[in-house]
Amino acid sequence: MGSWLVCLALCGCGDSAPDGASGSEVEGGAERQAPPVLARNVLLVSLDTVRADRLESYGYRVQTSPNLDALARRSVLFERAQAQAPQTAPSHASLFTSEYPGAHQIINAHSSASTLFTLPTGVTTLAELLQGQGIDTAAFVSGGNLTRRMEMDRGFDVWDERNEDVSGRVDALLEWMLAPERGRFFATLHTYQTHAPYLPPRELVPRFVAADYDGPLRERLDRYLALPAEEAWQGAVGPDYWDGMLEYTDADVAFLSDLYDAEIAYLDDQLRRVLEVVFKSERAADTVVVVLADHGEEFKDHGKFQHDQVFQELLHVPLIMRLPNELEKQGWRGRVPEPVELVDVAPTVAELMGVSSEGTGWAGRSLVPLLRHPGRAPADWADRPQYSELVIEPGPKYYQSIAWRGWKYVYAWQKDIDHEWEWFFHLGHDPGETQNLIHSEEPEVVEARERLKEQLFRHTEETVGKAARVGEGGAAEVDDGMRQTLEQLGYHGSGGAGRPDGGDRR
Ligand SMILES: [Zn+2]
Repeated sequence: MGSWLVCLALCGCGDSAPDGASGSEVEGGAERQAPPVLARNVLLVSLDTVRADRLESYGYRVQTSPNLDALARRSVLFERAQAQAPQTAPSHASLFTSEYPGAHQIINAHSSASTLFTLPTGVTTLAELLQGQGIDTAAFVSGGNLTRRMEMDRGFDVWDERNEDVSGRVDALLEWMLAPERGRFFATLHTYQTHAPYLPPRELVPRFVAADYDGPLRERLDRYLALPAEEAWQGAVGPDYWDGMLEYTDADVAFLSDLYDAEIAYLDDQLRRVLEVVFKSERAADTVVVVLADHGEEFKDHGKFQHDQVFQELLHVPLIMRLPNELEKQGWRGRVPEPVELVDVAPTVAELMGVSSEGTGWAGRSLVPLLRHPGRAPADWADRPQYSELVIEPGPKYYQSIAWRGWKYVYAWQKDIDHEWEWFFHLGHDPGETQNLIHSEEPEVVEARERLKEQLFRHTEETVGKAARVGEGGAAEVDDGMRQTLEQLGYHGSGGAGRPDGGDRR
């Protein structure tokens, strides 16, 4: 079967103007050419838990995101962007380090754990690279599994970590970004606004939720909405928020899903404040805005809630890059159908800012050729595989997936019960991953399945080799503040974020 995948993994774990000016850097005694500076500043916005198919610009039929959609129309939108992990810590670690999860070895922490892992010293973060070139770096994040305790703050001059409503995170970002002394900058904004528990502002609820829903979750929602906002946000939702999920009816699930849409609409409205500042000021001339999500969200699409599997509702994420005005006028705008990954973001940002990433060993590839000519990508881009991984406690349970040439293979193994699962899908014909072809004997399916398994094996070998080179990270304690945030977000340690079991034994 496929246990070689996990065996391998386990063995291995033990001031320039934006006018095209170029410069040179000296590293290790050898001078090398830096790429031209295409943008002075980059703002990276990470929307935790926003699945791509809930935005109109990705085909959703409900208007959840008018501001992001307006941004997308003036941007380069990547139609097939994939997260490297469906959970916050490993996905952001891949975003920041341009390494696959098996290489950086970061996994989510949960509230019943006493320790967590930190980034290995052998990886180079994007912020470290930019900071080394004198660029101001700051991150306004929401803690939990995106925390300085995991050393995610490496390379940031300012790391402001606070779990609060998105409006507070936006205020903090704008104050820093608009400071008179601000030089060239790389800023990151991260919010859990759309993460469970789904508690949108009261006034948005009727717009998205069916008026005739009278199930048990209505009373629970009304009770939460009666709490002062700060109290509800900080965890007063109580453990009963998660009770009875396994028994939820279709109407209950639709109610939760509608609340999630309302949260996206609220988040979108708050992002309008950021976009107005950028685009109604001279910042539009020299700032790239990157909007993405670290993973999606599941509403029993494959039998669970939240995000602890590797199906597409959890891996397909929005990725939108708005270039400075001058580049937009030159045609850096449109839709990119080629497959890309979040590990590609760091090399892209570095190249846009005129900073060479040579010597970092990063696994991702700069998207600048796709930004320059959306819709006319070099031929080899269409053939890139997309990889994702996940480790969840207890078990532990390991997932790996590869998507390639329209096919997708998923492998899972749970150590404590020594049980394996395999899935194989044709994403082109079956984007919802409903028909498992793992036992199909159709010659075309058999050939594709073997090719993907072989490709995933080679990728795993490379990742394990990388992990050995970057070394192991350290360990740190989960403190009380982090534990409270993890509780509120639903990370109780009973199967990761998806508490109910089921649906994955197909
Ligand atoms: Zn997340």
